[in-house]
Amino acid sequence: MAGEPQADCLFCKIIAGNIPATVVRETDTTVAFRDINPQAPTHVLVIPKVHYADAAALAAAEPGIAADVLREAGRIAADEKIVEHGYRVVFNTGAGAGQTVFHAHAHVLGGRGLQWPPG
Ligand code: AMP
Ligand code: ZN
Repeated sequence: MAGEPQADCLFCKIIAGNIPATVVRETDTTVAFRDINPQAPTHVLVIPKVHYADAAALAAAEPGIAADVLREAGRIAADEKIVEHGYRVVFNTGAGAGQTVFHAHAHVLGGRGLQWPPG
């Protein structure tokens, strides 16, 4: 069923507690944890507890939870004190854009200068 946990999904396993992660925040609908391969001094992933392959699918099916993910991204940026300097929220979508885990997730990146356009 749409949104149900997927047995072969890395992030569903993190939500279930079957794979460890450094969780920084949790709500009824989201979990945020540090990226295992950080690309900036702050690199946190915010994921919905429901399983959708990418951000667009999440927003189409569960717009309220998509908003929760965005709100949590902002909360984390504030907690990590990266708001004043500027930070980036990224949803890689599709393998060609670098998506490797097909469970919707926001990257929250900051704590260093961020170039535009991104690579
Ligand atoms: P993406 O490439 O946009 O799909 O992002 C997936 C992210 O998940 C990458 O930045 C990985 O470094 C990160 N990642 C993979 N495995 C883990 C893990 N076990 N704990 C935390 N982050 C992970
Ligand atoms: Zn999943």
